[in-house]
Amino acid sequence: MTDGQTLFAVFALLYLAECLRLVSSTTWMAAGPGGRGWTVIRPWSRLHVGGGSPLLLSALPPMQAHVTALPWLFVPEQDFLKVRLGDGMTARIAWDRLGPRVEGAGLHLDPGTHLRMPSEALAEIWRRRLAEWRELPADERRAAFLKHARASLDTKAAARTAADAAQRTRMPRIIATTHFIWCFGVISAAYHRFGDSLVVLASAGVLFLLQIAQAWLFLRATLPVKSLIPHRRWRALGIALLPQLAMRAADAISLAGNEEPPHPLAWRGLLGGESWLRHARRFWRETRYHPGWTRDNSLTPEAEALKAFFCLEGVVGSDYDPPPGAKLPVCPRCNAEYQTGITLCKDCGGVELRTPMPGSV
Ligand SMILES: [Zn+2]
Repeated sequence: MTDGQTLFAVFALLYLAECLRLVSSTTWMAAGPGGRGWTVIRPWSRLHVGGGSPLLLSALPPMQAHVTALPWLFVPEQDFLKVRLGDGMTARIAWDRLGPRVEGAGLHLDPGTHLRMPSEALAEIWRRRLAEWRELPADERRAAFLKHARASLDTKAAARTAADAAQRTRMPRIIATTHFIWCFGVISAAYHRFGDSLVVLASAGVLFLLQIAQAWLFLRATLPVKSLIPHRRWRALGIALLPQLAMRAADAISLAGNEEPPHPLAWRGLLGGESWLRHARRFWRETRYHPGWTRDNSLTPEAEALKAFFCLEGVVGSDYDPPPGAKLPVCPRCNAEYQTGITLCKDCGGVELRTPMPGSV
């Protein structure tokens, strides 16, 4: 490997490291606006590092803006607070054992349960909210949750936030895309053709000018939220000097902010209809057909909130909860088929199976 190739490989590794983020395992990220609208990115939730999971942002050009969403992490039940720790992982904390406490962006709920929140501000919002819920009677807790759920499913607000993020990062993303192509395409080709020469040096000079422009754009775009970006000026200096920071400058701009993230289903206007419906069905299945579900069970607070939302959005039951298409009994939660005579899905913690109506197939 020549010195130039080694430098190139180091740049590529540094760039990929800059695309990696450690986020809460429950985080949903959308990258866009690409050719097919916005696409969902999820963290590798099986890998737990420091209370969170790594997430790879959209790395290839054209560079995209990113926005965050969170499913409902805290759901009040009669005697417990249900806490969503990750996909399919929940904890239940008795109300009298709940003692929310904030440490950085970490929210400690009882001696054994803590969550990494997207920001310190959000951890504090939830500490206060949970302390309030703890003091309420059960029906008021449910009403407080439903109010929070309604607010988090505001599709217009979620679309506005995404459009804002895309608009604020438009120029930095154009510069970053040009910079990426120049760094990994033009300079590499020039080095391959001319070796250590003035042409390559001049190309590197262009790269440096792009970085200076990017640092200026970063400072300008983050001016309204400067208090939310730690070491903002040092970061701008880094963007001016380090190619990998210049290429990812838009991330710091679009992900800055401390407002509460919406529920992922509020992205109805962002994701394609099919993709949104797939997520809607999954959320419905998980909340409606909870472990131990039987057809006599009433709706959980989450299922009630989702049902009201689907109704408001004009999504009919057969779309978000399609009837079983098989002749055999089916688990409504995991869709596994069973032999006739079996009534419960043990894999889902004893969910009662659904038997197709005669003549429906
Ligand atoms: Zn099942």
